Amino acid sequence: MVEVKNSESGSSDSATYTRTAAHTHIKGLGLDDAGVAKPIEGGFVGQIEAREACGVIVDLIKHKKMSGKAIMLAGGPSTGKTALALAISQELGPNVPFCPLVGSELYSVEVKKTEALMENLRRAIGLRIKEVKEVYEGEVTDLTPEEAENPLGGYGKTISHVIVGLKSAKGTKTLRLDPTIYDSIQKEKVTIGDVIYIEANTGAVKRVGRSDAYATEFDLEAEEYVPLPKGEVHKKKEIVQDVTLHDLDIANARPQGGQDVISMMGQLMKPKKTEITEKLRQEVNKVVSKYIDQGVAELVPGVLFIDEVNMLDIEIFTYLNRALESEIAPIVVLASNRGMTTVRGTTDIVSPHGVPSDLIDRLLIVRTVPYNKSEIREIISKRAVVENLKLQDAALDLLAELGSNTSLRYSVQLLSPSGILAQTYGRLEIAVSDIEDAKSLFLDSKRSTKILEESASKYLY
Ligand code: ATP
Repeated sequence: MVEVKNSESGSSDSATYTRTAAHTHIKGLGLDDAGVAKPIEGGFVGQIEAREACGVIVDLIKHKKMSGKAIMLAGGPSTGKTALALAISQELGPNVPFCPLVGSELYSVEVKKTEALMENLRRAIGLRIKEVKEVYEGEVTDLTPEEAENPLGGYGKTISHVIVGLKSAKGTKTLRLDPTIYDSIQKEKVTIGDVIYIEANTGAVKRVGRSDAYATEFDLEAEEYVPLPKGEVHKKKEIVQDVTLHDLDIANARPQGGQDVISMMGQLMKPKKTEITEKLRQEVNKVVSKYIDQGVAELVPGVLFIDEVNMLDIEIFTYLNRALESEIAPIVVLASNRGMTTVRGTTDIVSPHGVPSDLIDRLLIVRTVPYNKSEIREIISKRAVVENLKLQDAALDLLAELGSNTSLRYSVQLLSPSGILAQTYGRLEIAVSDIEDAKSLFLDSKRSTKILEESASKYLY
């Protein structure tokens, strides 16, 4: 089958995937038209003020009033900071990039920290390329015995009704001819009544004769060929492809291929990696600006979420400050569960969340608050649905209880092992005993600390 294919966005980062998978139940901020948060909506439970504040931020972003600014989500562990940042990107529209990372990820021996930050900033900036293509599209049917005998039988008089032999396409349901083939058809000057073959693998068009010669001169085996669809099939179609600037950097860092966006995207699937230099990024930016000017592409700023922002050091903060002023910056959402902390890389600068004051000045700070037991119960039941697990009411109550005594994350994490234990006992629903078992197998942080303190002498220092 010859098909116009949409290229996948290349960011198949497994860490990113795992982190966002914990939030599959989140489907936006769950606000009504007036921006008011419903207690349970969009997969969200509670955290009303933070959700409403994020709603205002989404409006600011949409009205382009966030340039040079960033967001800080401040609150304890598991209070939904990552979930809120993801929901902001979802509210900005479909296919808006969301790039989550933890502050410490920027530090590695191989890659300079500023380089790592730049890479992630570009992962969070999307480019939507719109092309109007002319395609033939329609239902393909196998030849009936009648048509096989006289392949022209029953077809009309427009070019789309020319009998087309498409090798090995038997059984496929949709036939799309991409513009290359359309061009070839034109180049070959195919006219009404001509018989052409399209090679399924190469898409090459061959003019093989006239319709009246078809049945006699070409001894065709019906199984190998399918006719073009009946009816009007020539359409203009808008093809939208979403990539990130980082995808384009990678694609263009490979030696082969042209400079245009489409050839750069064609390179995405090829695995070889070469270094992405600043010069190369500027080249990519130039091509991108050209496409934007021509109206072929538009920038889609996404969300770069940096958790544990206190792990960043003063140099990175300076770099981030500058990046926020750039014309093509994503929305930067920082998160912290720290109070006053020394800024990393300094000995004497103590500031809120360990963030230097010049960056604090640029921040819109949103506070997240701990959940009560019934909110935890709701969140766990939502997670159970996406994890395809059924819980008895008493088991859900117990997890909610555990969550409020330890942490939401701990009780969410007990879900999967409890499910496995229930399965082992041949039960379809998780029972209280499964939770108890899972709890005794896996410690929460408080119990773990207690055990360590009580038996300190047994551990190495
Ligand atoms: P940390 O500070 O440890 O990184 P966090 O504040 O980013 O934590 P999340 O990772 O967003 O917390 O939340 C933990 C889990 O609970 C996730 O699966 C998240 O989707 C879910 N969750 C948190 N808050 C809510 C909420 N208000 N409604 C629904 N699910 C939530």
